[in-house]
Amino acid sequence: MEYLDSFNSDDSRIDKIVAELRENYPEIDWQTQWSDDEDIQGNPTSYVSLVVPGSQYEEAEQIYQELKEEGFDFETSIFDSLIEEITEFRDERDWKQFHNPKDLAISLSLEASELLENFQWKSSDEVVVDKIDNITDEIADVVIYALLIADELDINLEKAIKDKLSKNRQKYPVEKSYGNNKKYTDF
Ligand SMILES: [Mg+2]
Repeated sequence: MEYLDSFNSDDSRIDKIVAELRENYPEIDWQTQWSDDEDIQGNPTSYVSLVVPGSQYEEAEQIYQELKEEGFDFETSIFDSLIEEITEFRDERDWKQFHNPKDLAISLSLEASELLENFQWKSSDEVVVDKIDNITDEIADVVIYALLIADELDINLEKAIKDKLSKNRQKYPVEKSYGNNKKYTDF
């Protein structure tokens, strides 16, 4: 078998990707192979490779690359299984029809305000003790809407967060920002 690509084994979308490839390109014998490896810290981890028979490699490689260029989302993210559970909840209620990006963004902001409401007229210290259950619920609501927006707009949130952290590292180098709450424009 010849190697085409690999994914972390805890990425739940690999099965869907392979199913989709098999359905749309049945002439290719798309298969997966599991392998054990070590991560950077030397801890055992495993990954799954997308492989095809050597005789079909050229054709499969071409299909796969073209799909990638067309933006077919082969990327997986640590949020995939959560998004799956959230969209299942949504679809059981036929709510997708209401979930356009604008209304999802409004809803996220409203949930953030519900989180904030816990703190109104109180000290932070007292609220984090007295209202921890409600804070937990509201922060979950905020993240649920963030995941719904990401799903709706095909944003890979894991990649987006990593990319944003990388930008923030450039804006806020440790030597300038350590113990310093100034905005980067005021350094
Ligand atoms: Mg709420």
